[in-house]
Amino acid sequence: MLDVLIVGAGPAGLTLAIELARRGIAFRLIDQSPEPFAGSRGKGLQPRTLEILDHLGVAEPILAAGCLYPDMRVHMGPLSLRKGSLGTRHPATEARPYPNLWMVPQSETARILRERLTELGGQVELGIGLLSFAQDEAAVTAVLTNGETVTAAYLAGCDGGRSLVRKALGLAFDGETLDDKTSVVADLEIEGLDRTDWHVWPMKGGERLHLCPLPGTDLFQLQAPQSVLANGLEAGVRRVTGHRVTRIAWQSTYGHSTRAVDRYRVGRVLLAGDAAHIHPPAGGQGLNTSLQDAWNLGWKLAWAVRGGPQAVLDSYEQERLPVARRLLQLTKSLHESRSTKRGDLTNQLDQNYRDSPLAAAAPEPGATAARAGDLAAGDHMPDARLADGRRLYDRLRAPQAAQLEYRDGVRILLRPDGYIAQISSADTGSYAGAAVTRIAMD
Ligand SMILES: Cc1cc2nc3c(=O)[nH]c(=O)nc-3n(C[C@H](O)[C@H](O)[C@H](O)COP(=O)(O)OP(=O)(O)OC[C@H]3O[C@@H](n4cnc5c(N)ncnc54)[C@H](O)[C@@H]3O)c2cc1C
Repeated sequence: MLDVLIVGAGPAGLTLAIELARRGIAFRLIDQSPEPFAGSRGKGLQPRTLEILDHLGVAEPILAAGCLYPDMRVHMGPLSLRKGSLGTRHPATEARPYPNLWMVPQSETARILRERLTELGGQVELGIGLLSFAQDEAAVTAVLTNGETVTAAYLAGCDGGRSLVRKALGLAFDGETLDDKTSVVADLEIEGLDRTDWHVWPMKGGERLHLCPLPGTDLFQLQAPQSVLANGLEAGVRRVTGHRVTRIAWQSTYGHSTRAVDRYRVGRVLLAGDAAHIHPPAGGQGLNTSLQDAWNLGWKLAWAVRGGPQAVLDSYEQERLPVARRLLQLTKSLHESRSTKRGDLTNQLDQNYRDSPLAAAAPEPGATAARAGDLAAGDHMPDARLADGRRLYDRLRAPQAAQLEYRDGVRILLRPDGYIAQISSADTGSYAGAAVTRIAMD
């Protein structure tokens, strides 16, 4: 019997597959699409995601494939005004090596994740979809579009916003439709438009047409209301911007709703990514949250496959459902305000699991508190220097739990996903960036 059947090879499914491959779990990763995803869609990688991509061993190619967010240039007739960037420009520090929003077309992020999966001996089975499934206490039995029947210990629905897995489970997908408008996202070659800025054309009714230069390509990402492009994409872009579209590399449409499930797990079936939550693209959160769902789930599912405590797998929903709820509120308010001011609001560095049952409130016997200075159980561990001069994050690429010791005897137990499970004694100093004197992996 297979350990895990992963349905959908977007950012969530790929991340989960890498996490299972790193731990020697037997899985299959299927995607109904015959081709890898080709669009720039989710192009904003947040600082917390970059830390996780470092743990996954792909920070280098991700940094090489992208750039900081450019400034926005707002066009008003013959005049234009340069406004700030959606991203921050903080200097990197020892504790926060990736402090800024980083732009990488989604197709490139997915390609880099697929290559990492291949390195680990895994693969995406393209052109194979899930048709239906049933589960009992012992297993999940899935019927695939190629006629196969697969039996697996667990099924992970990473199958996007229209998730068949979510619908088949009969889960509520509560939320609201923010407006009934449809928007277009497309990757275009445009004649004579400079690639220094992200160009914005405001229109009547508060609508805007965006053309953002995509790193590593000759393309711009278009985002615009479909109504503006009613007479054809090329004609609409020409009318609003005065520029000619010379090639359409990819295009799609999207609506503006905020919805989330109220359960991430039903028996042996789990949901991750857009399958569990959808929201407007404002704030660049979707891919990031989807990838982090899978990052949270991966080690817990591997433990469950190996007979570990079910309470650990249950903590997946306990930790990620509150994140989804906050995500919906944030993206709704950004969508409605139409503000382009982000600062650190969207960088996800403040996301933590301090309220999780896995964040041990009670420290080890003999110790007195669950905090060390600015760190608490449930926080993601900032990077630090090790006694041998290397970076902590270099060591955290191993898929194991770790124990860190500081010079004054404060000990910190890290979960395999780099979040702090336990802090062994109280202290009031600052530990973000302080040198770690000893590290032991389990
Ligand atoms: C205009 C726009 C801009 C965006 N910008 C950002 C941004 O800047 N930052 C950000 O974080 N996010 C952004 N997003 C959101 C981001 O694109 C999504 O949140 C992300 O793709 C979700 O990843 P996923 O893996 O959960 O799902 P998906 O990427 O949708 O992948 C799901 C996969 O499942 C497959 N599948 C579906 N059904 C089946 C089936 N029955 N059997 C087998 N396979 C199946 C599909 O083929 C697909 O490959 C943006 C979205 C839009 C529309």
